[in-house]
Amino acid sequence: MTTPNLVPNIAIVTGASRGIGRAIAVALAASGAHVAITYREQAEMAADAVREIESAGGGAAAYQLDVRDARRVKEVVETIGKELGPVSILVNNAGLVRDNYLRFMAMEEWSDVLETHLNGAFLCSKAVLAGMQRLRWGRIINISSDAAFVGDVRRANYSTAKAGLLGFTRALAREVAPQGITVNAICPGMIETEMTAEMEDARRQGLLRGIPAGRFGTPEDVAALAAFLASPAAAYITGQAISVDGGLHMG
Ligand code: NAP
Repeated sequence: MTTPNLVPNIAIVTGASRGIGRAIAVALAASGAHVAITYREQAEMAADAVREIESAGGGAAAYQLDVRDARRVKEVVETIGKELGPVSILVNNAGLVRDNYLRFMAMEEWSDVLETHLNGAFLCSKAVLAGMQRLRWGRIINISSDAAFVGDVRRANYSTAKAGLLGFTRALAREVAPQGITVNAICPGMIETEMTAEMEDARRQGLLRGIPAGRFGTPEDVAALAAFLASPAAAYITGQAISVDGGLHMG
């Protein structure tokens, strides 16, 4: 374990059963946070993430949460407040893709993606804000994507949601900065997770050629920035969108 540096230190990471969310939960715990790992369906994977953190000497607990469910979001944040303490760090990470050419995209494919990324970030941020305002300290980190800048083919839904998250980040950052709360977005490029595992080899090789660093990213590459943004050292960084992409998008 590294020296604890997250005080106050109760963190929620949405969609933390696997992938980037899990790596962020592990990194926050290594910095001294007590982490609420939320998952939508994969209870066993979430329990495994809790075990990984505990065996490294950290603190974590798992909670089932579909971020689209307003009632459940409120309930889970209240439960975490009672069981762990007031939430001071929120990472809006839960996400999914429903790829299709726009011409063939069904309404559910469009709305599933917007509801998960945008409604999810709205509901979770709203639920933790009063507590952060009482603490006069808070960190909200929204996991956007380079897709917000460059647009992805067959992902009009996803690119729209991720660009929307940047507007949300900036507006909320202005609103809550006077209360000691920062709001930032991380924009990962191509990161090796289940979300990207099924990509055909030809497309992977094509993407790889466009990455100056010459490799795809790891969840830990993203988690390192999240842990920094959550720390007291990042108190004067707010309203930013920071890419973690090996130089893919240089904006
Ligand atoms: P992943 O491995 O597919 O994990 C997605 C996580 O989100 C899972 O824990 C999943 O929970 C959860 N989730 C999905 N829908 C949810 C809902 N309605 N409510 C609560 N949780 C939900 O994906 P990842 O690659 O780690 O992606 C994490 C975030 O990074 C996403 O926002 C994604 O858009 C973003 N991102 C990823 C990449 C990349 O290259 N991988 C690039 C840019 C941005 P269950 O396991 O329970 O279903």
